Amino acid sequence: MPRRARLFAVVPAAGRGERYGGRRPKQYVNLLGRPVLSWSLAALLAVPSLRAVVVALAPADRRFARLPEAGDPRVRTCNGGARRESSVANALEALGHEARDEDWVLVHDAARPCLRPSDVRRLVAALRDDPVGGLLALPVGDTLKAAAGDGRCDRTVPREGLWRALTPQMFRYGVLRRALRLNLRRERPVTDEAAAVEALGLRPRLVTGRSDNIKITVAGDRGVAAAILRSGWDEEHENRARLRRTRV
Ligand code: C5P
Repeated sequence: MPRRARLFAVVPAAGRGERYGGRRPKQYVNLLGRPVLSWSLAALLAVPSLRAVVVALAPADRRFARLPEAGDPRVRTCNGGARRESSVANALEALGHEARDEDWVLVHDAARPCLRPSDVRRLVAALRDDPVGGLLALPVGDTLKAAAGDGRCDRTVPREGLWRALTPQMFRYGVLRRALRLNLRRERPVTDEAAAVEALGLRPRLVTGRSDNIKITVAGDRGVAAAILRSGWDEEHENRARLRRTRV
């Protein structure tokens, strides 16, 4: 009988966040009293079937150990690399003695603190029997412009069939490790796991995610993320109140 695939996660958190600026890397910026990374990890750890998560950290990182999630028995760390994909590859190697090729790995950016556990569960349910794996993504809603070097529109790019890639992205451990190894050997930079898997000739599935799963990139994104997290609390509060009313 085939063994049931297990679920692991990897969180690349070794970036310097140069576009964000500021004194500390963006994954440690304070968001409603907790660092960004703490929110991102908590969303993954809320999924009970997750066996372990490896967080890739900058070698000089002294902040991670102070996060409440650092004490969770499912959380491990490893050294990150010079690029995002090398950080992910190192974390996969760190899972080497535990994960089997057919197991699933979720890769989630440290800089996406507004992920809802319900989106993780939906992704996992959608891909459970998929031969390739896939990612949370959103169809592009805005009109797209290709810019010329002088800051003017060169042309309008048709948005039909275009999606924005979010995280988590979910692939079989063996496939993802092979894809990233090949990618690092070819020295072709990729900005997500799906691009590395596509380079193997495979076609990851797009699973529609929530539009509020934003990535903190520039300083202004922090206020937006705080508003999203607060609205999540309000929603939860209303749901609980509704439940109490129906019980009465
Ligand atoms: O800079 P960007 O937003 O694309 O980074 C996405 C994620 O990759 C962040 O969570 C960042 O910490 C991580 N990263 C990493 N190692 C690097 C560069 C980025 O783990 N060398």
